[in-house]
Amino acid sequence: MTILQPDLLRLVYFSRNRISRPDCEMIWEIDQILETSQVNNGRAGVTGALIFNDGVFGQVLEGPKDAVEETFERIQLDERHHDVTLLDITPIDERSFADWSMGFVGSHSLRATYEVQTKVTDFDISRLDGDEIFKMLLLLTLKNEVTAKAA
Ligand code: FAD
Repeated sequence: MTILQPDLLRLVYFSRNRISRPDCEMIWEIDQILETSQVNNGRAGVTGALIFNDGVFGQVLEGPKDAVEETFERIQLDERHHDVTLLDITPIDERSFADWSMGFVGSHSLRATYEVQTKVTDFDISRLDGDEIFKMLLLLTLKNEVTAKAA
């Protein structure tokens, strides 16, 4: 039986990386973001997934309205990225990423699964709408391509 939670929201945005590091060090930087996210989100009851490809982040946050809004406010102030663009904010009946305080998809997993299935190359997250980012992250979660670390 699914227990409905009141005031549950899903929020989707994309943003552009501002961290100027070689790719190998970006992995370390993203790991720092994931570690903080997993602690904070676990505490606040926020779940979701983050993707990073070609300098663009895409993220889905889901959870109680206040917790999602507070988390997104902090994220928008973060100087490690800019151009934070809200794509979608929707009431939901249940979570799609219930097991992930913050899952992660990097370029390698994206190419290995999503690009092969959709035949989309030169993939640009910032050209997708909120529903497309959500569905892509969901597909990769179901295919077990989401990890907790930025490997
Ligand atoms: P701390 O981690 O201690 O940070 C304190 C301050 O320092 C914050 O203002 C932070 O923005 C800044 N800061 C920390 N490390 C660095 C650094 N290496 N370079 C520059 N400034 C830095 N947080 C979540 O809680 N949940 C999420 O889902 C989430 N997703 C994120 C997605 C992206 C793409 C990015 C860039 C950040 C994300 N964050 C997320 C981090 C968020 O922006 C805040 O940094 C974090 O929530 C602050 O956590 P804290 O209060 O524990 O402070």
